[in-house]
Amino acid sequence: MTTATEVSVRARIADEIRRRQRFVLSSHVRPDGDAIGSQLAMAFALWQLGKEVRLLNHDAPPTPMMVFPGVPKIEVASRIEDPGDAVIVMECGELSRTGVEGFERGFVINIDHHLGNTGYGTLNWFDTSAAACGEMVFDLVRELGVELTREIATHVYIAILTDTGAFHYSNISARTFDICRQCVEAGIDPPGIAGAIYDSNSLGRLKLFGAVMSKMELDSSGHVATVYVDQQLARDCGGTYEDTEGIVNLPLTVKDIDAVAFFKEAGPDDWRVSMRSKGEVDVNAIAKQFGGGGHKNASGCNASGTFEELKLKFQRLLLQQIEASRKTQT
Ligand code: AMP
Ligand code: MN
Repeated sequence: MTTATEVSVRARIADEIRRRQRFVLSSHVRPDGDAIGSQLAMAFALWQLGKEVRLLNHDAPPTPMMVFPGVPKIEVASRIEDPGDAVIVMECGELSRTGVEGFERGFVINIDHHLGNTGYGTLNWFDTSAAACGEMVFDLVRELGVELTREIATHVYIAILTDTGAFHYSNISARTFDICRQCVEAGIDPPGIAGAIYDSNSLGRLKLFGAVMSKMELDSSGHVATVYVDQQLARDCGGTYEDTEGIVNLPLTVKDIDAVAFFKEAGPDDWRVSMRSKGEVDVNAIAKQFGGGGHKNASGCNASGTFEELKLKFQRLLLQQIEASRKTQT
């Protein structure tokens, strides 16, 4: 639901955008579809208004995203000398999560839907009810009075499609579909977009999926799955860590599996953990305990220890969340 305060913050952001000319758009490290889609939808809207736009992230976009309009224009850097007239940071809970130094000197507009956003901007607009940050960007684009072009609509749709786990997560609302309807009316190609994102695997990636999935374990309840990848496994399959993007969602396709943790070896006894869940099972609560964050059904964090230790720890924590979600339902 959009509140009156949110409407006035959005109007204020629109005013500040109209008054300024040079923009830098950024998002979180290792940008996902919502990060890229939100940035590009905003960029195309600003270009329509005759503004100058730089797109700058700490990491390159996921390779499948490179086919979409404007994505190759994104610069990769970890510092910026000139933050322009305004920096618009989208889909990022903390300024440090951009991984870019120098934004703190600028006029920062913070637009986000993550729980626990730290309010780091000069102007801050959060809406945790938005299924994707792209929904918020859509509203802002409308507020700015620009035409919903095919490019803008494509990027809003990419943001929503990817951040809802292809319409799986529980934060989808009637508004989500209303926005998607308008995107379709603007001429987007939903099967083409889904195909470019989900059906453009390399053979190495599919083999890596197979290798990772064959090592999947279930806890004693049968409701919690754990999977992992280390450097050795990736090398053996001729794949890269980037190729593991999306694997975390596979265990949830099993009816009885309600939560999954995917461990990626980042260094010796250092793991990056991605979690996913169904319905009311809250994985964000666990990610926060480890200094990470995200959403109820999709969150991430880093954790140190051996894989066996962490596997048991996360199995226990995930089962606790499953049990807590059952209590709230009865
Ligand atoms: P991932 O598992 O990396 O695909 O991330 C799932 C969701 O959690 C995304 O919305 C991320 O932005 C968020 N997330 C992942 N890692 C972190 C972190 N360390 N801090 C805050 N949010 C995170
Ligand atoms: Mn998001």
